Amino acid sequence: METVINQPSLKVNGANLSVERISQEVMRRLAALQPVEEPAEPAAVARNGHLELDVPIGISVRHVHLCPEHVEILFGKGHDLTVFNELYQKGYYAAREQVMVVGRKRCIEKVRVLGPTRPYSQVELSQTDALVIGMKLPVATDGADPACQPITLVGPEGAVTLTGNGNGGAFVARRHIHLSDKTAAELGVKHGDLLDLRIDGPRPTTLHGILVRVKAGWRTEVHLDTDEGNAVGIRTGQMGALIVPRNGV
Ligand SMILES: [Zn+2]
Repeated sequence: METVINQPSLKVNGANLSVERISQEVMRRLAALQPVEEPAEPAAVARNGHLELDVPIGISVRHVHLCPEHVEILFGKGHDLTVFNELYQKGYYAAREQVMVVGRKRCIEKVRVLGPTRPYSQVELSQTDALVIGMKLPVATDGADPACQPITLVGPEGAVTLTGNGNGGAFVARRHIHLSDKTAAELGVKHGDLLDLRIDGPRPTTLHGILVRVKAGWRTEVHLDTDEGNAVGIRTGQMGALIVPRNGV
């Protein structure tokens, strides 16, 4: 004999719903009640004998930035980058588009393109990636650095070679923090300053030389690469303590 288990049901707008649908409906209504609010930027506090600001850390996986001309060469005439998912920084996104990065010994397939487009193209790899593909890369802030190395990108519709020498190329990204102009002023730091970041946890570490980058509207966020994240045992979303010089506040 077959046993029939009666699922409790509830009428919502005249329709009988299962427990699963009821909980989905409750979650949907609760979400609709939550006001969408920007999280408040935390304030610096005196701790351990200096001022510290707790900051979220984002781990940047290898990626590519492209100029509009290179988007068309790699993905076809008239092609625009399309959004795969939004990044923590407003207005920036991981694109659906991916390219193959061609090194001297090996290639890395499916390297994500980040949008929007930029005036020139650049490839940001970890030191481990660089070793795997047989390249020696400098630590740099952007593709305008003359030390950036030539590298070739292959897309579904074509290939481009970035020439280095300040015209876009491959590099290992310098650890940095994004700050709004307002937060930078409050902390008394400026674009180009180098700060320390203390990371607590199973592999306690202080990273030096965190480059301050300032732009109106930016949310406070440290960017490290995958080698750095793995070395200090953290993942995206975890916090670090930015150490702010006392004379700055
Ligand atoms: Zn960044």
